[in-house]
Amino acid sequence: MYEKGIVIVGGGHGGSQVAASLRAGGYDGRLTLVTAEPEVPYQRPPLSKAFLKDPAHDLLPLRPESFYVKNDVDLRLAATVTAIDGAAATVALADGGSIAFDRLVLAAGSRPRLPPIPGVDVDGVLTLRSAADARLLRTRLHEANDVVVIGGGFIGLEVAATARLLGKTVTVLEAVDRLMGRVVAPQISAYFLDLHRGWGSDVRLHSPAGRIVDEGGRVVAVETAEGTRIAADVVLVGIGVAPNIELGTAIALASDDGILVNDFVETSDPRILAIGDCVAFDHWELKRRVRLESVQNAVDQGKTAAATLLGKREPYRAVPWFWSDQGDVKLQMVGLSGDATRSVLRGRLDDGHFSVFHYAGERLVAIDSVNRASDHVLGRRLIAAGISPAPEDVVDESIDLKALLAKVTTKAG
Ligand code: FAD
Repeated sequence: MYEKGIVIVGGGHGGSQVAASLRAGGYDGRLTLVTAEPEVPYQRPPLSKAFLKDPAHDLLPLRPESFYVKNDVDLRLAATVTAIDGAAATVALADGGSIAFDRLVLAAGSRPRLPPIPGVDVDGVLTLRSAADARLLRTRLHEANDVVVIGGGFIGLEVAATARLLGKTVTVLEAVDRLMGRVVAPQISAYFLDLHRGWGSDVRLHSPAGRIVDEGGRVVAVETAEGTRIAADVVLVGIGVAPNIELGTAIALASDDGILVNDFVETSDPRILAIGDCVAFDHWELKRRVRLESVQNAVDQGKTAAATLLGKREPYRAVPWFWSDQGDVKLQMVGLSGDATRSVLRGRLDDGHFSVFHYAGERLVAIDSVNRASDHVLGRRLIAAGISPAPEDVVDESIDLKALLAKVTTKAG
């Protein structure tokens, strides 16, 4: 089918999925997965959760190493693609080699952003993306007394909760007025603020970091923009990520805050597909451009990429979902709440098991659930099916949403 074969750049959640789906879909040609990290592709979410807490916790491979051998996937570990030659249809590797392709899939992920403040490069100021980052953070965290987290997003808060469980003094500096503000509704931000404060973290809103203070090149404190000094043996910066788009932009692939792809995850060069954290796309329902950073999106776009490559063009239509474990609390989100005009609560905030259902007009667009996995699972089905239960039914806990779904599905069928 493809003489020179398919090359996948990036062995994360997305890249590994493309390889698996291609083989499962019957592709038997040459298949190369090139990834910069030295580890067999592994699960990233535990790096800020179980892996960090417990030094005995190993990386969890996405698939065993034997999977790549058995499926004849040429897995190149610790190999970085430095450039794409569009005319020759080859990728260049950092070791001087090159690989020819008929089709290329960019699954290069993203990298942590750093704040433009003095001292951000001193020893002990860490970010968390890779297994190598997580090993270093784990060691430093276990040795530390005082931990400062810059950024009250998912990763920062997961690390803060873990550091408190380890008995560390924890300060979280959030620049804006609420936690996880880019993604969750204000009620959820407020709930998690109370939670983290209750666990003993000093969470400061409206508190951007101003500079890092070091002694002999090692961090000793963080100074807020206002000039308050907070002692720190280790600083975790979690202020978001930048998509790895440079391989694509260097050959003029259309890009925005991500390499632009269509419904079939094709870039502006149809021989090149892109998936996961490194892409942006026009969302079919929201009618605006999005870039999603989640395992779900990387995996589902990986499946779409494989389908496109196999000639079974299926537009990407997956419902987005995400989770975050902070301490013993599980936050699960489905849909995108950014366009919501109204939100209603199911369950009770004070018993720690509740969901916020978000509506844009009459339409259910997202659900944020705290320790209510069943609402999340059901919500995925509701949103995928385009079913919007009436808000008054949602707040009434005597109404079983499952029955409602069954009723609507039967009616529709
Ligand atoms: P990645 O998984 O980042 O993989 C990209 C790979 O490409 C990397 O291995 C990178 O080294 C490699 N690469 C980059 N450039 C090159 C190059 N030039 N040559 C070769 N290789 C290259 N999501 C959730 O849904 N739930 C969670 O709870 C959650 N927790 C997270 C916790 C942490 C600590 C982190 C870092 C992320 C978390 N995420 C979570 C986000 C999720 O892991 C990402 O959205 C997902 O990994 C994206 O997959 P990807 O395949 O696009 O990129």
